[in-house]
Amino acid sequence: MRLILLGAPGSGKGTQAEFLAAGMGVLSISTGEMLRDAVAAGTDLGNKVRAIMATGELVDDETMADVVRERLGQSDAAAGFILDGYPRTLGQADTLASILEQKDWSLDAVVYIEVPEDELIQRALARQRADDQDEVIRQRQRVYRQQTQPLIDHYRVQGLLCEIDGHQTIDEVAKSVAAALEVTR
Ligand code: ADP
Repeated sequence: MRLILLGAPGSGKGTQAEFLAAGMGVLSISTGEMLRDAVAAGTDLGNKVRAIMATGELVDDETMADVVRERLGQSDAAAGFILDGYPRTLGQADTLASILEQKDWSLDAVVYIEVPEDELIQRALARQRADDQDEVIRQRQRVYRQQTQPLIDHYRVQGLLCEIDGHQTIDEVAKSVAAALEVTR
């Protein structure tokens, strides 16, 4: 199983990625988590992305291409994966397509968790993470709208998109995702 989870900041895609990974025994790859780990560890990558992450902007596509190519090249990815937080731009989607093509891998589905923007902002303001300040939250939503939302149509025209109503409890969303994937597989 090779999946992408798509959704705005605060849509709950990270939680759903973990549920799916646990339920299907598939590796979950969160680029946000990888970058936060790199920042915390003070690696070259971490030092490079620290400032940009703090603003709510995206790390550049080339840096992310290296991160993802390297991660998907590790042996555990061969059995399948759920990508949480990548791709986030059309350029990243192209990069991913070429990485997958080289490996002769295809995507099974792109799960899009849809939540109204008002609710996203409310949820985000209620969170406690250090980088979740007001302006940063709004900036991330803007970045999402401008750079990531185009991916929805990109994958829809490829027939890969599974749209899930994210305006439900976590358990209900998880059930909807499972049901959608049963149909897709
Ligand atoms: P969220 O809290 O929205 O789920 P993530 O944990 O996925 O966010 O990512 C946190 C931050 O890491 C992003 O705001 C961005 O700066 C950076 N980041 C993560 N994934 C990517 C990516 N695919 N492209 C560029 N930047 C990324």
